[in-house]
Amino acid sequence: MNITSFGYEFEAHATCDCGSGEYPRAISDARGIYICRACHVCEDRKLSGYRPEIFTNPQYAADERIEDDF
Ligand SMILES: [Zn+2]
Repeated sequence: MNITSFGYEFEAHATCDCGSGEYPRAISDARGIYICRACHVCEDRKLSGYRPEIFTNPQYAADERIEDDF
């Protein structure tokens, strides 16, 4: 699966949905999984809804189990 083709590239030139008028960037977690788009204005607010470890620890516990010990 190609994460970069997730489907948000088409709005890469749109301003952030928080209404700041700033240009957002795609936020990904420590596994490289796309989280959301956020600009510097709303980034802290949007990411505050996520556990901090998902951005720093690729082994964070998730609902989906990663089978890497076969
Ligand atoms: Zn924003």
